[in-house]
Amino acid sequence: MSKKFYITTPVYYVNDVPHIGHTYTTVAADVLARWHRSLGDETFFLTGTDEHGAKIAEKAREMKIEPQQYANEISSKFKEAWSELNITNDNFIRTTDEEHIKAVQKALQYMYDRSDIYLGKYEGLYCRGCEQYKSQRDLINGLCSDHQTAPEKMSEECWTFKLAKYQDELLKKIKKDELQILPLNRKNEIVSFYEKEGLEDISFSRKNISWGIPIPWDKSHTVYVWADAFLNYLTGLGWSGKAGQAPKMWPAAVQLMSKDILRVHATIWPAMLLSLNLPLPETIFVHGYFQINGQKMSKSLGNVVAPEDLVKKYGVDAARFLIMSATAFGRDGDISFAKFDEKYNADLANGLGNLVARATKLIEKNGLELKLKVGSDKKLIEKYSKNMQSFRFDEALKSLWQKLKEADEALSEKKPWKLDLLASSGQAKIKKILKPIAQDILNVADLLKPFMPTVAEKIITQFSHKQIKKGEPLFPRI
Ligand SMILES: [Zn+2]
Repeated sequence: MSKKFYITTPVYYVNDVPHIGHTYTTVAADVLARWHRSLGDETFFLTGTDEHGAKIAEKAREMKIEPQQYANEISSKFKEAWSELNITNDNFIRTTDEEHIKAVQKALQYMYDRSDIYLGKYEGLYCRGCEQYKSQRDLINGLCSDHQTAPEKMSEECWTFKLAKYQDELLKKIKKDELQILPLNRKNEIVSFYEKEGLEDISFSRKNISWGIPIPWDKSHTVYVWADAFLNYLTGLGWSGKAGQAPKMWPAAVQLMSKDILRVHATIWPAMLLSLNLPLPETIFVHGYFQINGQKMSKSLGNVVAPEDLVKKYGVDAARFLIMSATAFGRDGDISFAKFDEKYNADLANGLGNLVARATKLIEKNGLELKLKVGSDKKLIEKYSKNMQSFRFDEALKSLWQKLKEADEALSEKKPWKLDLLASSGQAKIKKILKPIAQDILNVADLLKPFMPTVAEKIITQFSHKQIKKGEPLFPRI
């Protein structure tokens, strides 16, 4: 039976060009979207860019261009990167899209009309980098831990969202997994945040920041960037801002993100949905960070890895594979080009690539005709699916490579090249050895499609011909 599967990445903030962090989330979302499409599920995959806020206005001013022009340029860099990585998003939402802006205003008006938004005053320490007020415990030696800058003391009149009102209901839903947060340690962090600190009402507007969506009933304020950004998950489906009316694909089956934005996604975002009488997402999945050679990736260290660096060096499919197999999806990982090179040579050039070359060469040389069937290894499919279902991409890939390893060993042990083709039943004997190996390769290729779509199709096409022929090397050695 086909199911609905709606998956989102965060909208990426255009203060920065795409790097491996964005790439990780987006490729993972693409892998899941492709897998669900292959299962016949009705699938929608949304990504996009977050374009409002003081920081964007500031960057544009530095470059002496309009904020919209600045946002256009960076947003198109994200689009290019995703197209280069063969990402199959069904929509690319921009928070400066006119339809999005209208829907945000309509939604906030509704929340205001039902008295979930009131005129309050906010005093606090504000980090410009985060565009967030910070509590003392968010700071290290008085500095924002993400930006190493001292937040500014600010006090202002602002339109305030009654976040505290939703504390009990949200905590209950999170505990009962009605809003599931994965991995479990992340859920525990959030539950403990609710229980120990709890929700407080939050500023939902800013004065004096013109690069934002005007509050519909008070044009001297613009909408707080997070409130604006969250609604993309609905407007990206064509939602017009009407409370109580979820778009067809809502709720999201999976919302992927990195850990730095979990807290807001597990508090403000679902509270907004409750205020708008809309269902909560089913699952929030939080993946870890990559360190580069044991160091945090940062511009000042000059170790930022861009998606195009990976594609240039390894090719699209191999880049996708290397990212997804680097570490368990919910954990932090350490990557380096040296490790990627090693893995590329071991698993792709020597592993998959070499096995395909050896097998096809022998099949072609002996003139074998093999009738193979895609998807014939039910045990392998079961193991793989279980891992995909639980976001264990690395394990799903390991199960495929285990299969390839067994096929490779069978080939080396049985040495079909030593058999005499012309001896009695020589060809039958050779065929008996090579057919299961070819069948394994085909089954693995079929399951590789979400990760390496082009290479997988190449192998499937090659092994689906009546007469299988050796082709170009799939992965030239590095
Ligand atoms: Zn900060």
